[in-house]
Amino acid sequence: ADNQSIPLHSEEWMCPICREVRQDIATASPCNHLFCVGCIQRWAQLRASCPLCRTAMKTIKVSVWGDNTVTQ
Ligand SMILES: [Zn+2]
Ligand SMILES: [Zn+2]
Repeated sequence: ADNQSIPLHSEEWMCPICREVRQDIATASPCNHLFCVGCIQRWAQLRASCPLCRTAMKTIKVSVWGDNTVTQ
């Protein structure tokens, strides 16, 4: 089972692409996988599918420690 809740209060979250602990976290929708903002934006310019599960991404929700914005 997937346990991918958004760790807004975690200091240990690590981006699965660059493997760095980041505080700028983006959520791919609808699969809800998490990546750092820089990685997923770079990826989204190349492919419209999630880097982890290949689900077609409709939106990317960016959460920077409480500041929520939504980008297409
Ligand atoms: Zn990253
Ligand atoms: Zn995914």
